[in-house]
Amino acid sequence: MHELRIDSIEPMAQAVLGDDQLAGLVRSLPIAATIVRRDTSGTIRVVASNAVFEMLYGILSSQCEIPGFIVEEELLDRMMQQLEQGGVQLSERWSRPDPVDPREIDVSLARLGAVEDKSYYLASFIDRTTEMQNQRNLHREMLSDSLTGIYNRTGFEEAILDVLSDDAVHEMSDKTAKGANYAVIAIDLSRFSQVNEYAGAIVGDELILTVASRLKNMLRNRDILARTGGDEFGIFVHLGENSDDIDTICARLQSVFESPYSLSGLEVKMEAAIGVGLGTVGEDDPSDTIRQAQFALKQAKRSNNVELYRKEVLDISRHRFSLETDLRRALQNDALSLAYQPLIDLSTGDVIGFEALARWNDPDRGIIAPTDFIPVAEDCGLIVPLGRWALSTAARTLSRWDKVAGRTLGTRVGVNLSAVQFTRDDVASAVDDAIRNAAIVGNRLTLELTESAILSDPDRAAQAMESLKALDTCLAMDDFGTGYSNLAYLQRLPIDILKIDRSFVTEMLSDRDRVSIVRAVLSLANALGMETTAEGVETLELSNTLAALGCSHGQGYYYAKPLTADEALDFYLQRTKTGKA
Ligand code: C2E
Ligand code: CA
Ligand code: CA
Repeated sequence: MHELRIDSIEPMAQAVLGDDQLAGLVRSLPIAATIVRRDTSGTIRVVASNAVFEMLYGILSSQCEIPGFIVEEELLDRMMQQLEQGGVQLSERWSRPDPVDPREIDVSLARLGAVEDKSYYLASFIDRTTEMQNQRNLHREMLSDSLTGIYNRTGFEEAILDVLSDDAVHEMSDKTAKGANYAVIAIDLSRFSQVNEYAGAIVGDELILTVASRLKNMLRNRDILARTGGDEFGIFVHLGENSDDIDTICARLQSVFESPYSLSGLEVKMEAAIGVGLGTVGEDDPSDTIRQAQFALKQAKRSNNVELYRKEVLDISRHRFSLETDLRRALQNDALSLAYQPLIDLSTGDVIGFEALARWNDPDRGIIAPTDFIPVAEDCGLIVPLGRWALSTAARTLSRWDKVAGRTLGTRVGVNLSAVQFTRDDVASAVDDAIRNAAIVGNRLTLELTESAILSDPDRAAQAMESLKALDTCLAMDDFGTGYSNLAYLQRLPIDILKIDRSFVTEMLSDRDRVSIVRAVLSLANALGMETTAEGVETLELSNTLAALGCSHGQGYYYAKPLTADEALDFYLQRTKTGKA
């Protein structure tokens, strides 16, 4: 490879050009510039240069093994040939990948003209080295976490892409062709914000640093550690090397949190949630694997386990999301309905009322069970409009029944109030709206609450319940026996009816212990002046047993399944006429 020899500077250019204006121009330029000549044989010579050029050349040559070279002659030669095809000026970036003194120089070449078969060019050089280094440093800073110095979130992804494009990894991928050959592990420190609040940010920083260094010690050379958030770490590990599988790696990572951390005199026990995404080189996009690890981490926070990403889990959440979209639409289009299940007086067999149960028959999905869509509605907040819809529909049904029957019927309707709705909405005003709009009296409605509605904020719950009582509505405690089930605190609340959960009732016949529990509940409820409803009565035998135990009402398939509003009215009118259950 030929390079341009600086030591071959000719006598001044004006001797050739007959004009010292050109040399003067070169000298006055604020950037390194030189005039080069190329003769017909292709030889390139420097004919004039300015002080900046000589300085640049000086810096370069003093650190060059062979002094006297500035840029590759090949480059100038190529640029000159290009200019000879046409054009006046050309620029290119020249870089010298010297490990000690790397250089990046912008080389510009301008054609000046030809004299006696010799072409003259003005070459100028701008040293971009510092600028590029600054840019690279800045980039590196942008990729790293300022506290720990390890990669940040952006840096993590870049570093993974870097490692995966390595040839070594491609070889590795052949070895472990079966299954995943790398994993992304997301770690979230469980109680970090508490430590931060309690002990202050400096101790918090110290904790992060200690965790980072403990994690780093667990990893092998080619693994990557990053701080992906305030109290979140990301780890990239190769699998299949040294027979390390993901379980052993996770167990090792968990051991990082086993021994307490001593920070500025404090002993802190840390816990961490760990989510894992698995990937295969050449098949999976590593950014997907990162997302999967983060998705698994969310599960891990709930389960307190190490969670491996599984597609089914994502499918479930996708399903939930599309269910949410469809449910929103169904609510807007008034596509939900209420079914009414009769409540029977166990001593007389009379129909004393109905429970309103939400029904959703989607044209595409078919019938969706409330046990599927109610939790979705609770998660996304749709439970508030859904709950209001149920209240007003039930109230309007009551007034329509009265109209059809030509008299005010003695029947009540129970409407379920979700705990989420109970805490988020002003349920008393929702109930008030419903009874006013339907022009019925408050005691026609029973509101079915679960214990969870009370537990989250007992004072607020008690207040809301008093407001509901002020509207003259009836209050029922739903699913009794499944939750906290403390009759002592229920006693302090204005509850009229206790609904004994179906699971309790069903097991009564097979489990003697259940019978005594139900008996105890029934007698306590009686003592507290509450009525009782047994849910899920499916047989005559159960119905009789419950009646004998003193339970007030029964609800279940033995009497009737949930009915449409019209069927329910017929059922009521029929039974009330005959007076028999
Ligand atoms: P829940 O309040 O305990 O309602 C009773 C459930 O038991 C209903 O299920 C009813 O159809 C079912 N059931 C009644 N008798 C029997 C029986 O003899 N055997 C069996 N195996 N089941 C019986 P459904 O309609 O599927 O409703 C399930 C749950 O969804 C309800 O449980 C309630 O928690 C919730 N839900 C339904 N509608 C609404 C609503 O409008 N708002 C709210 N917040 N929740 C609702
Ligand atoms: Ca209920
Ligand atoms: Ca129930």
